[in-house]
Amino acid sequence: MRTTGVAVVTGANRGIGREVARLLAARGVTTVLGSRDEARGQEAARGMTGPVVVRGLDVTDQGSVDALAAWLRAGHGGLDVLVNNAGVHYDTWQSAAEADLGVVEEAFAVNVVGAWRTAVALAPLLRPGGRLVNVSSGAGSFGETAGAGGAPAYSVSKAALDMLTVKLAADLRRRRVLVNAVCPGWVATDMGGAGGRPVADGAASVLYAVDLPDDGPSGTFTRDGRPVPW
Ligand code: NDP
Repeated sequence: MRTTGVAVVTGANRGIGREVARLLAARGVTTVLGSRDEARGQEAARGMTGPVVVRGLDVTDQGSVDALAAWLRAGHGGLDVLVNNAGVHYDTWQSAAEADLGVVEEAFAVNVVGAWRTAVALAPLLRPGGRLVNVSSGAGSFGETAGAGGAPAYSVSKAALDMLTVKLAADLRRRRVLVNAVCPGWVATDMGGAGGRPVADGAASVLYAVDLPDDGPSGTFTRDGRPVPW
């Protein structure tokens, strides 16, 4: 279990990201709680224990991401864990054939380009033995038919995030950074709605990929540590 180093969690002011940040900080990992709205991030961090640092971070804003990279470089000399958790539009139901392309563009801007932008900016800071985790979804799986059947923008964006995971894993392997995609399962958050499992379970599914041993796999897609079909 990782208990040292520096971690960044995007979209960590609520939901699964908040729980991941809370647990990492409680372990002693210096955890950057990324929040689009810094004040809401401060509110989310209230009561957390351990070294948690709130930073304003909008993954669609290049300046915001670059500022975080500069701050990490100057203050910490690098990074050990990046969790690309920020996501949108699971709950936007429509048909693919009649899709509102504005929704499609928003889903891609956050779920794909946002994660990619953050990876490009922060990957150079990832130290050997680092971890990059993309929080994906079974909704983007070709092999799982359940889930998000009416949220094509979300599903297609998560499938693209999975492919990005494979590409990043190949590029970062020589630097001994493991890159994996995880599905947190159906989790009761603002996005998931009522009825899903607790955020603790979703966070555990994400932390599995953070806690992989150095000789662990890269370029995988798992839920609760078990493979999800692409
Ligand atoms: P929530 O809707 O509860 O939280 C989403 C988070 O993403 C919020 O903190 C939100 O910030 C942030 N966010 C949205 N846009 C941006 C942006 N441009 N820049 C930075 N942060 C942003 O979602 P969950 O916690 O449920 O989901 C977390 C991840 O897990 C997502 O990637 C989601 O797709 C995935 N997932 C969730 C499932 C579920 O059942 N809940 C199932 C499968 C996957 P703000 O508060 O400012 O809007």
